[in-house]
Amino acid sequence: MANGKIGVTTENIFPIIKKFLYSDHEIFLRELVSNAIDATQKLKTLSSFGDFKGELGEMNVKVTVDKEAGTLTISDHGIGMDADDVNKYINQIAFSGAEEFLAKYKDTANSIIGHFGLGFYSAFMVSKKVVIKSLSYKEGAKAVEWSCDGSPEYEMKEIDKESRGTDVILYIDDDNKEFLEQDRIDNLLKKYCRFLPVPVISGKIKEWKDGKYVDTEKDNVVNSSEPLWTKKPSELTDADYLKFYHELMPGNEDPMFWIHLNVDYPFTLTGILYFPKIRNNFDVQKNRIQLYCNQVYVTDQVEGVVPEFMTLMQGVIDSPDIPLNVSRSYLQADQQVKKISSYISKKVAEKLAKMFNDNRKEFEEKWPDIKIFIEYGMLTDEKFYESAKNFFLLEDVNDTDYTLEEYRKLVEAAQTDKDGNIIYLYATDKTAQYTYIKGAEDKGYNVLLMDDQLAPHIIGLLEQKLDKTRFVRVDSDIPERLIVKTDTKDAGLTPLQTDIMSTLFRSQIPAIEKTTFIVSFAALKEEDAPATVTQNEFMRRMKEMAAMQPGGGFYGEMPDSYELIINTNQPAVKKIVELATSSLESQVAPLRSDIEILNNEINAARKEATDQKKELPDLSEKENKVAEERKKEEDIVSRYASEQPVVKQIIDLALLQSNLLQGESLNAFIKRSISLLKD
Ligand code: ADP
Repeated sequence: MANGKIGVTTENIFPIIKKFLYSDHEIFLRELVSNAIDATQKLKTLSSFGDFKGELGEMNVKVTVDKEAGTLTISDHGIGMDADDVNKYINQIAFSGAEEFLAKYKDTANSIIGHFGLGFYSAFMVSKKVVIKSLSYKEGAKAVEWSCDGSPEYEMKEIDKESRGTDVILYIDDDNKEFLEQDRIDNLLKKYCRFLPVPVISGKIKEWKDGKYVDTEKDNVVNSSEPLWTKKPSELTDADYLKFYHELMPGNEDPMFWIHLNVDYPFTLTGILYFPKIRNNFDVQKNRIQLYCNQVYVTDQVEGVVPEFMTLMQGVIDSPDIPLNVSRSYLQADQQVKKISSYISKKVAEKLAKMFNDNRKEFEEKWPDIKIFIEYGMLTDEKFYESAKNFFLLEDVNDTDYTLEEYRKLVEAAQTDKDGNIIYLYATDKTAQYTYIKGAEDKGYNVLLMDDQLAPHIIGLLEQKLDKTRFVRVDSDIPERLIVKTDTKDAGLTPLQTDIMSTLFRSQIPAIEKTTFIVSFAALKEEDAPATVTQNEFMRRMKEMAAMQPGGGFYGEMPDSYELIINTNQPAVKKIVELATSSLESQVAPLRSDIEILNNEINAARKEATDQKKELPDLSEKENKVAEERKKEEDIVSRYASEQPVVKQIIDLALLQSNLLQGESLNAFIKRSISLLKD
């Protein structure tokens, strides 16, 4: 009939195809099977409109491996092609600037294939020769054979072919022998063709007979041609959804719920998203959504198509409107894709809101499993936050759930501080922070439990979003000061007593690695603990944030800083103050007044120098003297303190309460406790 040159502007496209598409060459099968499906669907459409009046017959696509002949054949009974069609669709590839295009998109093979109608030519990635035998559906059409060995020249001739449709025969080249293995082909078909709309047959169903597997007469259909997402939700039962889920995600627990997506304006999209149980370590669960384009599997890398937090969901999305054959960055910038993404986000929020409104009890039961997901969504998607704030739940340490609005109403009256901020108290560990929680509850406060992975971020977000709201961890101060309602009471110590007492307690705090303490005093209730250890909220949060970042940064290096607050109204403390004052006053008072005089002189000299813009005189002698006197004072006080087991006992009790007493110090505490019992 005719031979000729394939109409590609580039001299020889095939080496380019082979070179750039090498890594992804298995997709040739997807492309050829898709073409066969398209041809089949087209004929069905023509038939349904009465434009094709013949018998449709068996409409399937067959993939046949012939290892001996070295061929892989994809056959269909679709519309077929006559010589004109082959010329138009196969020979004239609409292709310009091929090299420029390839250079730009060489990162993804997918971007080239399909985009420029190169689908069929991907066959050359694995073949040394490709033959098409086709008989068009048109009345009186003559069958045609086209063959090409990978050079830009092709051969075309008329042949005899009885059955309507197309056979594409690949002569697999030596580097790609794997595609002559039935198992490899079956696996590929399972991956790409599992849900294609026309039955795809690959070999025969095998049977175990006489010690080996043998072919039966029955065709092996690899796909289910009407996957669940193409059906109407009203026709489906929960059992259908669960069955489909387990087909998609074998070995997984039942999902908690699902959303059947179905839109046709302003874009077409169907799909089913399942909501798995997510507790911790959610990274491993990502990327379980498969993307389809008219039931052809495309990818499970859905970043950019669905909102980031929804990559935690599982299931399928099918849309002919997602430009699948372009690079990822293009995908993310695409307006259509953005619309799709926010549509999905909206649907998910609606579903959750409905679940919450329909059956709050059930929603609360599911909460532990869906919370991470919702928090993740709130943190990363502003619009999602706006919907989620109505069903997001705060849980207190007694397992009661509240919406944000309910919680505010609950604590507003009792937990507003003197500046009008509502203080949300929270614990991160019910057991370790037990005493602090009790202390707060005894004051009539409510304590939230914020113990999951995202809690620190959620706290930050809520502080930003909720008006005049601050979160304070329950152990970050003594109950009296967690919510400051009036200016605090004076601790009732003279300056000299304060000085002695802080040196006294400081000297007896055991050394703990990377940990510092400051000592302060408060006049609390008599029956309150003699001392309490608290951790500054700001520093702790900074350190927690730093710990989440690689390297840790500035705050990561800082020691943990705690405050040891001594209750000056507690009888044992009162006794210590009295005793220490009477025993130490006579020795410490003169040192103190010396230090004060020296300090006054130093400050006066400094002030004078600054005021008169003079050079600072040498003050080192005075400064050394201050240090010396301080040292003396410290020695006296700590020598005294070391003989007061009750001081150590008070400190250790406070440390014990906040889990800071360990190892040797804990051992010493126990021994001391026993000997104190003897007295
Ligand atoms: P695309 O499928 O993206 O259009 P291809 O290179 O895969 O690009 O195919 C080009 C054209 O060749 C198709 O659009 C179709 O018209 C025709 N074609 C390919 N395979 C078949 C087939 N099995 N039956 C009928 N026509 C086919």
